[in-house]
Formats: sequence, structure tokens, C-alpha cells
Amino acid sequence: MTSWAVRGIELPFGTAPRQWWIGESGSVHDAPLPDAEPLPGRYLLAGLADAHAHPAVGPGPSGPVARDRSAAEDSLRAWARAGVTLVRDAGSPRGVVLDVEPGPGLPVLHAAGRFLAPPGRYFPELLGDPVPEPDLVRCGLAEIGRGASWVKVIADFPDLAAGTGPEPTYPIGAIADLTAAVHQAGGRVAAHSTTALASQLVAIGVDSIEHGPRLDEAAIADMASRGTAWTPTLCASLGQLDNPDLPPESRRKLEEARERLTELLPLAVRLGVPVLAGTDVVGSIPREVALLVQIGLEPAEALAAASTWPREYFAAAAASDIVTYHNDPRADPAELTRPAAVIVGGTRLL
Ligand SMILES: [Zn+2]
Repeated sequence: MTSWAVRGIELPFGTAPRQWWIGESGSVHDAPLPDAEPLPGRYLLAGLADAHAHPAVGPGPSGPVARDRSAAEDSLRAWARAGVTLVRDAGSPRGVVLDVEPGPGLPVLHAAGRFLAPPGRYFPELLGDPVPEPDLVRCGLAEIGRGASWVKVIADFPDLAAGTGPEPTYPIGAIADLTAAVHQAGGRVAAHSTTALASQLVAIGVDSIEHGPRLDEAAIADMASRGTAWTPTLCASLGQLDNPDLPPESRRKLEEARERLTELLPLAVRLGVPVLAGTDVVGSIPREVALLVQIGLEPAEALAAASTWPREYFAAAAASDIVTYHNDPRADPAELTRPAAVIVGGTRLL
């Protein structure tokens, strides 16, 4: 059975139920397809998307730990069963995720290859071989040559040896050269930033800001005119506020960040910045959607950030990706943990 009959409300913005039929290639029809299998569920989505994931990184007792290719595939399979049909891998140790072969039961994958950071400026176990500034362009292009569609540059980070807070890792001109070279080669650049450097990264033309708690209104206006995406990864930051053992100073900083984001994320959505849900190492899509609602996005917008907006931004092909729910996840994002049916690339997983 390779075609499906669905009757329900199309998420994230639909309001009225309708009936339609979806063919094997993802083609949508208003008239019945022969032998179409009816799907359960009254709310329908073309799959969830995770725009900042690390299938080859896991949480460890003292920081993130590297995983191998088969563990990365296991994660991707589990995410697909949970309704995630599109994943951008935001960097993997030694670029191991580039070796994952597409196949039935796996989400569509856009991978960034290995992390680009100079010595001592990223988690050592994840960084592997550091990338000194003179090698930045060459190493970025090498990842594109290995099949990466994105390049992940750690643009600011604490100096781990000195124990100081985050500051720029490379001169901005070096990241500009990397960005120009990657664009020339047909790839895109995702920049990790947690400092005010983010506005300069936008100005030199990186394609997405990862985290970005120090973006400001001017940078967001610039992102809107350039089409720069923002993946705020709230689970990895604001999610920590749920931890009762969080040191008071960290709590104060995160509460400050939450206040800024409550202004800036709804502004970004209003201006048309592609705001994308991403889980990083510690989060989940239902939790990220809930946090996006908490900081002021409309529930339908928060769901769009985890589905249709990234599908548009990553130009996801019209594969047969369908996820249905019995109850409206806009009323409660926890509904996203209880899909009624999951079809990924034409393969029914639930
Ligand atoms: Zn990350």
C-alpha cells in the first residue's frame, strides 16, 4: 500500500477539515486514489523537522560525548518513528554523519560535516582535529567535498584552557572568506554564536545563526532582508531553568536571556526571519515547540518553526512524509509525542 487517504485539519495553520489523497511520491490529489489506505488521526502535518540536531553526539556525565555512525543511525531511526522527517545535522565528530546512507525509515538528512573551531575552542572530544585560522577555508571546502551541504563554524566559544567566557574564535574576515568559498561551492554556513558577534556574522552573509541569544533588533532586521535563518535551540538554554540545582548566577543570566528572547523571537517571526526549531543535544521537538510558545510565538507559529518553515528553508522535496495526530498539537505541544500515524519518505513506520 503506497498511497494514503487523509481526512482532517492541515497543520500548522489550517482551520477546516478536508479530505485528500497522497501518492507514493508525495503528490497530493483531491480525488480518491485506488487502494489508498485511510490513516487515523484528525490533524495532519508533512512531518516534523529538527533544524539543529546532533545524531552523533550524546549527553555525558561531564559534557557531550561522541557517538559512532551506527549510533547516529539509531538516533535518526528513533526520531523518524517519532515523526521527524527532516533533520539538519549541525555538526558531528570527524563528520561521521556524512557516512550515513539514506534509506527507508530515515529522515531526509542535511549534514554539516565536522565542527570547525581552533584549538581549545570547542568540546575536545567532539572537535577532534582543531582547525587553525589559515586552514579554515580549506577545511570547510573539504567537508563540502565529502558531501556536506552545510558547514558548521564555531564562531565564538569559551577559551577552555583559560576558563574565560565566550569570545570570537576566528577573525570575522576569516569567517567571511569561509562563507564566500562555501557559497561558491554550493554549500551553506551555519554559525554557532552566543555573543554579540552574531550581528557581524549576519552582516558577512552566514546562512543561519545557531543559538543567537545576543542577537539584537538591528541584526534581526538585517536577517529578515537577507533571509538568514535563526535556530534558537531553547531546550539547550532556557530548558536549564527547570533544573532546581542550577547555580544562581546561571539562573540570573538565563532569565535575562529569556526576557530578551521574549521580545526578539516574536519580532523575528513578524519580520519574516525563518525561525527554526532545533533540539541540539539535550532537547526534543515537542519541548522546543512548547518553549517557543512560552516565549511568545503563537502555537501555530511555533509548530511551523518545527515543520513547514524548515521544510521551505531547506527546500525539502515533496516526498511522502505524513504525520497525523488525534488531538490538536496547537492546543498542547505534548500531543506531538503521540502521533497517530507516521509515514517517512513513503514508508509507514506507525
Ligand atoms: Zn549544537
